[in-house]
Amino acid sequence: MTRTEKLLAELIALPSVNPAFIPPPPAASARQARLSHPFAGEKRVADFLASVAARAGLDVEFQKVAPGRTNVIARLRPPGKIRQTILLAPHLDTVGAGDSQFVPRRENGRLYGRGACDTKGSVAAMFTALCELANAKSRPQETEIVIAGLVDEENAQIGSRALVRSSAFRRLGQLTASAGRLKAELQTTLAIVGEPTRLQVVTAHKGSLWLQLETRGRAAHGATPQLGQNAVHEMTRIVDLLETDYAARLRRRCHPLLGTATVNVGTISGGTQPNIVPDRCAITIDRRTLPGETETGVRRELAALLRSKKLPAKITSAKLAPCLPLETSPQLPLVSGFLRSVGQTRPAGVDFFCDAAVLSAGGIPSVVFGPGDIAQAHTADEWISLDSLERGKDLLLNFLKSLP
Ligand SMILES: [Zn+2]
Repeated sequence: MTRTEKLLAELIALPSVNPAFIPPPPAASARQARLSHPFAGEKRVADFLASVAARAGLDVEFQKVAPGRTNVIARLRPPGKIRQTILLAPHLDTVGAGDSQFVPRRENGRLYGRGACDTKGSVAAMFTALCELANAKSRPQETEIVIAGLVDEENAQIGSRALVRSSAFRRLGQLTASAGRLKAELQTTLAIVGEPTRLQVVTAHKGSLWLQLETRGRAAHGATPQLGQNAVHEMTRIVDLLETDYAARLRRRCHPLLGTATVNVGTISGGTQPNIVPDRCAITIDRRTLPGETETGVRRELAALLRSKKLPAKITSAKLAPCLPLETSPQLPLVSGFLRSVGQTRPAGVDFFCDAAVLSAGGIPSVVFGPGDIAQAHTADEWISLDSLERGKDLLLNFLKSLP
């Protein structure tokens, strides 16, 4: 068994279910009850990784993000002056799972268990690569390598959002971002966010915008509907418009790595009982955005479309934190260097949103890279190919070793 596989098996056996996916028992303070669940929270994994990193001689610190939830940050400082920084940033949390998924199981060249590919596989590959680098004969002389195990990617990304606001991150920024020297900054920092990309270097992903649309009508007795105004009926016209005209319009908007923007009407609620004309109806939509599309722009476009069809509706945000699209230039020296190092001629794009967009919006050029396939993420029998896992570690280690 390789070091990477051993670490991954240990990580799977330490549940770190995002508290948002733990159903709260009735009549308890929701947050307290969720955090005290035996599978909840990233703390076990963060503590364990801290000890792994400390044993390898890395400097370790914790960043408190929320009660009971901390990012773990480990650093390999170069002997010389720091001229550039690589940030390895996988997340520690997983979605929920049954008890048996916390028992790692090896079968036919695969390792099964919750988080195997999303994203404890990346955690294991990145930590093992860095620990091996720390003890290698030759290592970068002027490149600092930081690894940040982040909490809460699967829910509201409070881990990556806290990291970009933190002093650890500002120090990263300072190194490179002396006022106005954006160009210099872009050339000396790169975040590699761990997610299952089948070992492709991903430079772009879509954003996810959740909006609520609400129609208002006038209530009346179900026996005299002509005296009311039916908000549900109004909404059905809007739903139809979104799923036909608007969806067709989005299909014409195409990104070379990401395909088209999309819209999905995900929920609808309105009315209280059959014999009342409903005076309110609301839908929520998931609009997947392409690089360049903003929330303001999308809301303006929707409002104009509804106005043109004389379908008034109130549009509000249905998500606490924005999930922006990612687009990092493959021409940046560290990005093109990483692409070359893994033997990839063209950068890739993916559908799913991740921490890379948060770090990128915070000013760190970011790409996504990791072993495993997103097709196995969040499934009832999540697994990762052990070949992919080991190759992921090797590719990362080779790239890090190639840095000055
Ligand atoms: Zn993930």
